[in-house]
Amino acid sequence: MSFQDTIIAPATAPGIGAIAVIRLSGTEAINITKQVFRGKDLTLVNSHTLHFGTIRDDDNNILDEVLVSVFKAPHSFTKENIIEISTHGSPYIVKKIIQLLIHKGARTAKAGEFTQRAFINGQFDLAQAEAVADLIASDSEIAHQTAMNQMRGGFSKNIKQLREQLIHFASMIELELDFGEEDVEFADREDLKQLIHKLLKVIIPLVQSFDLGNVIKEGIPTVIAGKPNVGKSTLLNALLNEEKAIVSDVPGTTRDYIEDEIVIEGIKFRFVDTAGLRDTDDKVEAIGVARSKEQLNKASLILYLFDAEELGDNNSLQKELDEIKTLKIPYLFIANKLDTIKEKEITKYTEDFVFISANIGTNLNKLKELILQKVGANNFKSGDTIITNIRHYEGLSHTQQSLEKVLKALNNNITGDFLAMDIRQALHHLGELTGTITTDDLLDNIFSKFCIGK
Ligand code: GDP
Repeated sequence: MSFQDTIIAPATAPGIGAIAVIRLSGTEAINITKQVFRGKDLTLVNSHTLHFGTIRDDDNNILDEVLVSVFKAPHSFTKENIIEISTHGSPYIVKKIIQLLIHKGARTAKAGEFTQRAFINGQFDLAQAEAVADLIASDSEIAHQTAMNQMRGGFSKNIKQLREQLIHFASMIELELDFGEEDVEFADREDLKQLIHKLLKVIIPLVQSFDLGNVIKEGIPTVIAGKPNVGKSTLLNALLNEEKAIVSDVPGTTRDYIEDEIVIEGIKFRFVDTAGLRDTDDKVEAIGVARSKEQLNKASLILYLFDAEELGDNNSLQKELDEIKTLKIPYLFIANKLDTIKEKEITKYTEDFVFISANIGTNLNKLKELILQKVGANNFKSGDTIITNIRHYEGLSHTQQSLEKVLKALNNNITGDFLAMDIRQALHHLGELTGTITTDDLLDNIFSKFCIGK
């Protein structure tokens, strides 16, 4: 991939809209646009200015009346010359103008190439570049917050600084090795230990945040299970109505279960409604139960619903609940139809069960609170840095392991050469995280996941 070229792509989503934006980036962006733009001479205007004019083809036909924004290197997103052309939002106009500009010397941008250039030209580090993609994909308050946080620096700043200190130690230790026999010590071992502790104090919480980060990004797979007629659909609808959530018809779902997305306090839950786990002789029902088991095993949270009246007939209910417990997945036991039983019957059980009335809406807020508690979401404070990217998680975990090795080596007075090796390992992982160390494969892999034009 050559960064000499000037690239072009639509910056707005495909389809008809009020306006569409076409973006060019590269040394020749201004010169190329100038050739087709009738208005001010774009090569003479200041950076960060906006110009009205027309775009004309080679036969002088007007393709559109447009507004052109000019950003001059290095004061732009990519740090190259950038032109943004706002046109009327017709896919036909966009296509014609892009074709014309390609004819004048631009080339179509590859997926993520604008962001990749921004990264290569030092606009931000790799972890921040990846957050740009997450930000665009974010569809809930917390997903948005975590991506924005990461894009604006997140863990990058902290880690960069600590990495530089670690590099200093690594070079001191390498220097000791150069002196070989002479038994000198340039790197104070106690200071090094302290630095490693400092690094681990940053890294370990980040590693631990990934479980939550991952579910924030993907949505928390939650299963509502229970026997027929206990009120599962009613509860799902009640939650849906309360949250005015996005109801999605997930393609490929069968009659065995339906999937809905519900956002509770900014966190996305993917709810699946499924049958219980009862053993059955009925063949059709047995298939349903097998599917249910599959769903249950994939869940991060199980809401197990039963009819509060069943509390009298404790034995068979107990068997069902015990079966849920054996799955070792966080669960809430919910006694529905609270309205059908007498208040005093509740008191015996309140510890383990949440009593609700799905069709009246009793205790739904309490239930939501418990749901958030169960997934650890209430530990999240806005402004916390949360890892949502598997590459970052792996990089940080590997760094943690290497650093723990360094600590162990220090405690056991291991010789400098082994120490240097472990430190180098840790530096390597940290470098990959922020993009100080990269390979073409790694970059291709990351940026190819972006959309064209980003
Ligand atoms: P599902 O088969 O588990 O999905 O159960 P449904 O949601 O279809 O509910 C079965 C029946 O129980 C319906 O007639 C509901 O109106 C009723 N139901 C649901 N929740 C409650 C409740 O809290 N109290 C009472 N009395 N009836 C309820």
